[in-house]
Amino acid sequence: MLSLKPMLSLEQSTRLFEELVGLASLIILAIIFGFSTHLWALSFLLAFAIYIVRNLYYFWRFVSLIRSHDTRPIRAPFGIWGEVYDAYFEKLYQDKRHIKRLRSETKQVQQAMDLLPDMHISLTRKFRIEWVNQSAEKLLGLRQADVGQNVTNLLRQPEMLAYLESGDFDETVEFYVSPESTRRLSAQIVPYFERHYLLIIRDITDAHNLSQIRRDFVANASHELRTPLTVLNGYIELMLDAPDSIPKVWQAPLNQMHAQSLRMQNIIGDLLTLSSIESDNLNVNAGPVNVRAMLTKLEQDAVQLSEAKHKIEFSIETDLGLMGMGEPLRSVFTNLVSNAIRYTPPGGRINVRWFKTDQALVYEVKDTGIGIAREHIPRLTERFYRIDTARSRSTGGTGLGLAIVKHILERHRAKLVVQSRLKVGSTFRCEFPLSLALPAAEVEA
Ligand code: ADP
Repeated sequence: MLSLKPMLSLEQSTRLFEELVGLASLIILAIIFGFSTHLWALSFLLAFAIYIVRNLYYFWRFVSLIRSHDTRPIRAPFGIWGEVYDAYFEKLYQDKRHIKRLRSETKQVQQAMDLLPDMHISLTRKFRIEWVNQSAEKLLGLRQADVGQNVTNLLRQPEMLAYLESGDFDETVEFYVSPESTRRLSAQIVPYFERHYLLIIRDITDAHNLSQIRRDFVANASHELRTPLTVLNGYIELMLDAPDSIPKVWQAPLNQMHAQSLRMQNIIGDLLTLSSIESDNLNVNAGPVNVRAMLTKLEQDAVQLSEAKHKIEFSIETDLGLMGMGEPLRSVFTNLVSNAIRYTPPGGRINVRWFKTDQALVYEVKDTGIGIAREHIPRLTERFYRIDTARSRSTGGTGLGLAIVKHILERHRAKLVVQSRLKVGSTFRCEFPLSLALPAAEVEA
C-alpha cells in the first residue's frame, strides 16, 4: 500500500524553512553589501565565512554538550542545528525516563524479594555476593557490607562448601546453621540471567523436626515390637519342631503363623535398617569396600536363591573398589539381585555388571523378568510401594527393599536409574560418583 507519511515532520519542515530563510538573508545582505561597495567577491566570501563559522560553532557546542553529560536544557538555535539539538534532548529525556522506570522496577523486584520468607542471595559465577534480601540479612546475619565477599567466607558449613565445590546444583543441600544450632536449612543454587546464580535458602527446621519425630517413632515402635515377636516366633518354631505334641488341625494354622511372623520380622528388620540409614551418624562407618570380593560372594548366594531356575551371569569389568559403607552397600547389591530373581520367571536371564564409564562407577542388574509399567517407575522407591502386592508377599518381599536402596545410594551421592518394559525385563543401575572410586591396591582383600 502506498504510504502517505510525509518525509519530514512539521517541526523538521519549520527548522528547514528557518535554515533557508537564514541562508537567504545572508545572501541578500551579501548582495546589498556588494552593491554598496562593488566588492562582490569579498561580500560573498564574507557571507560564506559567516555561514561556515556559525555551523562550526554549533557543531563544537554540540560535541561539548555530549561530552559534558550535562542534561540541563539549553536554548536551541534556529535552523537545522535547532533540529539536531531538539532531537538530542528528546532522546536524552526518553532515556532518562526509561532509566527511571527501570530503577523503579528493579526496586519493586527487590522489595518483593525482601518480603519473601526464604533467603535469597544473588551471586556471581565465582560465588561473590551481589545482593541479599532481608530474610537472608535477618536469618543468616548477612549485611549489605558483605556484598562483594565470596559466599564461602560467610557460609562455612562443610555440606555447603562441598555443594558449592561440586558444581552439581540439581539437588538441594541440607545443613545446620552452626554445630550448636538446631536450625536446619535447605539450600539450592539456580543459575539465572547470564553468568549469575541465585542461592535460595529455606528454613526447614519444623519439617525436619517432624520427620525426625516420625523416624524416631518408627524406629522405637519397630524396636519395641522386635522382642515380643522373637518370643512368639520362638514358641511357634518350638511347637513346629515337635509335631506329635500338637493336634493335626493346628498344624496348618501354625505353619501360617510361622510364615507371617517371619514376614513381620523381615519388615521390622527393614524398618530398623531404614531408620539407621536415615540417622545422620551413619557416615562414621565409611571405609574402603572391595566390590569384586563382595560380588563374587553375592554370585554364589544368587545361584542358591534362584535354585538354578535362572541363567545368572556376573561380569566384574573393573577392579576399582568404592569408598563407602560396606554393609549398607552389600544390602543394595543383594536387594537388586534378589528382586531380579523374584520378579523373573524360571528360565529367564539375569546379568550383573560392575564397570566404569567416563562419568561414574556403575553397578547394573539386568533381568528378562515381568518388567514394570512406565507409570510405576517413579514410585518404586516409596516405602511399601508394590505393583503386585500378592506377588511381592509370596516371594518374601517387604515392600521396603528399594526404599532402602535409594537411601543408601543417596548417602553415597549415587543415583538409581531404572529402565523397564513390561513383559520384557528391567535394568536397575546404581551410578556412583568417580570421586568414590578406589584403586584395587587400596581396597582390602
Ligand atoms: P518388594 O519387597 O515388594 O520386592 P521392593 O521395594 O524391593 O519391594 O520393590 C518394590 C516393587 O518394585 C516390587 O513390589 C515390585 O513390584 C517392583 N520391582 C522391584 N524390582 C523389580 C524387578 N526387577 N522386576 C519387576 N518389578 C520389580
